[in-house]
Amino acid sequence: MNAASTLAVLGGHPVIRHPRGPAPAVGEEEAQAAAEVVRSGVLSDYVGAPGPAFMGGRRVRALEEQAAQYFGSRHALAVNSWTSGLICAVGALGLEPGDEVITTPWTMAATATAIVHWNAIPVFADIDPATFNIDPSCVESLITPRTRAILAVDIFGLPADWAALRAIASRHGLALLGDGAQAPGARVDGRHGQTLADVGGYSLNYHKHIHSGEGGILVTDDDRLASRMAMIRNHAECIVQGSDPATLAGMLGFNFRLGEIEAAIASIQLGKLAPRIRNYQRAAAQLSEGLRGLPGLVTPIVPAGHTHAYYVYGMRLDPALTGVPRAALADALRAEGVLGVSAAYQNLHRLPMFVHRIAYGTQGFPFRSPYTRPDLRYGRGTCPVAEQLHDETYLGLALGMLALDESQIASVVEAFHKVWAQRHRLRAEAA
Ligand SMILES: *Cc1c(COP(=O)(O)O)cnc(C)c1O
Repeated sequence: MNAASTLAVLGGHPVIRHPRGPAPAVGEEEAQAAAEVVRSGVLSDYVGAPGPAFMGGRRVRALEEQAAQYFGSRHALAVNSWTSGLICAVGALGLEPGDEVITTPWTMAATATAIVHWNAIPVFADIDPATFNIDPSCVESLITPRTRAILAVDIFGLPADWAALRAIASRHGLALLGDGAQAPGARVDGRHGQTLADVGGYSLNYHKHIHSGEGGILVTDDDRLASRMAMIRNHAECIVQGSDPATLAGMLGFNFRLGEIEAAIASIQLGKLAPRIRNYQRAAAQLSEGLRGLPGLVTPIVPAGHTHAYYVYGMRLDPALTGVPRAALADALRAEGVLGVSAAYQNLHRLPMFVHRIAYGTQGFPFRSPYTRPDLRYGRGTCPVAEQLHDETYLGLALGMLALDESQIASVVEAFHKVWAQRHRLRAEAA
């Protein structure tokens, strides 16, 4: 196999003939832990009423203790998904309808819908094209008298610029929330990125670095927010039955409780996080070394003091230098057997829900309501950097889901070189 053989997309042999999909992330240890819970007969040990069982069963609490220690936070709270975690975090702030939360469009929809669930309004700040993370200067330019919080995402596994975001939050009296679904184990100057937010956390969904099928973990140092999130997680009946009206706001409870089986599995998975991340970092270093110098391809940068958990290895294309549309390159890479290639990510500000401003009912609530600033705009043109990346220049490789070894990465590098060497033929074909 060499770079001159015919491209697979044009009928040649692929570099990777038998692409290997994701390796199973759970094994015998998890099976045993799950079996033990089943045999105990206690699959969940929560009670919604006040009392010791309000905070859940033995495995849930053990997971929380382990997570608090691992991530270095005063509190960790287990929830049944990270989407639930985000809803708890936003809810704990006690927002008024129409309050604004500035967040990023370059993330999964749950980041923004968690805000809308509380009748608050997501305001999308553009991103930094070098890191794909929210751009602090753009955040500051969007602050209004209605702004209450910033919700930043450590997207693809790289911590956001938490120092800059914290400075802005302090200057304007805003809460700072984090979404680290893709970034467990990613650090800034030795501290876990999500612990730099007032509330942050991680997903335990099947597709993430570590998982228990479904689940999530909230981390915070704030006692008051931790107790409010624990209420929201478990029906908030304690508060609803309480007597002080001042404590009622935002206490619309859910059932976001994680079961004992998932908690037992998650505990074992958490123990496997560090070596798993090291493996992704090794793979990413090998990729960056191997792909260096390919015309028009920009590999990920990691700011000083940050570590990257590489859920996604996010690249950028310079179309003036590649001379080929992104889709043609992506198709050619896929044809060579490269798994996990994505040629677009997310532009939440262009989702129909925001463009048409319809969430609750048909009349546009909460966007079009007396509670909400009427001049807020979504849609194309409001986050041009994220738009250009999504429409033309972003190219990603789902590293975290594939767990590729050294020889597999070498084949991926070979496929990139083959495609790049012959990309003019793709152009000719496309014409
Ligand atoms: C996966 C993901 C979520 C949602 O997590 P779940 O555990 O699947 O609910 C939220 N935000 C981001 C950035 C994600 O990648």
